Amino acid sequence: MPELPEVETVMRGLAPVWQGQRFAQVVAHRPDLRWPLPQDLGQRLTGAVVTGLSRRAKYGLVHTDRGDTLIIHLGMSGRMRVDPESHAKHDHVVFTTGNGRTVAFNDARRFGSLDLVPTAEAAAHPLLAGIGPEPLGPDFGAALLARAFADRLAPAKALLLDQRLIAGLGNIYVCEALFRAGIHPETPGGQVPTARLKRLAAAIPAVLEEAIAAGGSTLRDHAAPDGTLGYFQKDFAVYGREGQGCGVCGTVIARIVQSGRSSFFCPRCQR
Ligand SMILES: [Zn+2]
Repeated sequence: MPELPEVETVMRGLAPVWQGQRFAQVVAHRPDLRWPLPQDLGQRLTGAVVTGLSRRAKYGLVHTDRGDTLIIHLGMSGRMRVDPESHAKHDHVVFTTGNGRTVAFNDARRFGSLDLVPTAEAAAHPLLAGIGPEPLGPDFGAALLARAFADRLAPAKALLLDQRLIAGLGNIYVCEALFRAGIHPETPGGQVPTARLKRLAAAIPAVLEEAIAAGGSTLRDHAAPDGTLGYFQKDFAVYGREGQGCGVCGTVIARIVQSGRSSFFCPRCQR
């Protein structure tokens, strides 16, 4: 499932293909993905020039000179296939630009979606409204975390996954950041010591930046022949490593379930 670093990597991969280009043709092969596609998606995008690409939380944003913003939600299995050699099953929306490049939005499970809204209204879109500060943005830091965690009984893990407090953090990188900060995922927010909150404030952007860097190298190594943006493997310290030894202390990595999702942690390093 794509998290913030994967979406960032997708948008960085799309930028050289789409930036400044005019959409020559946009074809939707079905009326809906997770949600109905705008009926006039192709009409409004065809002829429009891409003026910028960005990301907000786990969503990709493509801005056009017509004052519209395309919102890309990769969902569980969404991919952007760049210059695919042939049409593939689940290539639901196909974009052609004036530079002769083709990008297909492919989503086998259709938990993802696309929407097109006036740029001025994008921040109020249901996917984006009420989302907290970006963990890689200028407002993020120990002070923000201290405010979010103060007096909270909810577990640190749950607070970090709350999109209203911090934008775009998902299960994988929350597990990794809590490990680096030495915080047990079940610790109530209000009981996390200040020193560990400071470590957490540094760990969150660090794990994200490292994943983005790994995604960038994946792009260089694999995107050209494979054409698929959006997924890459990275070596994790705790995520998915239940039963293996902690790289720091050797203790066996544990797994618990919190709110229906697995938390991986080192019982010795994280307290
Ligand atoms: Zn350990």
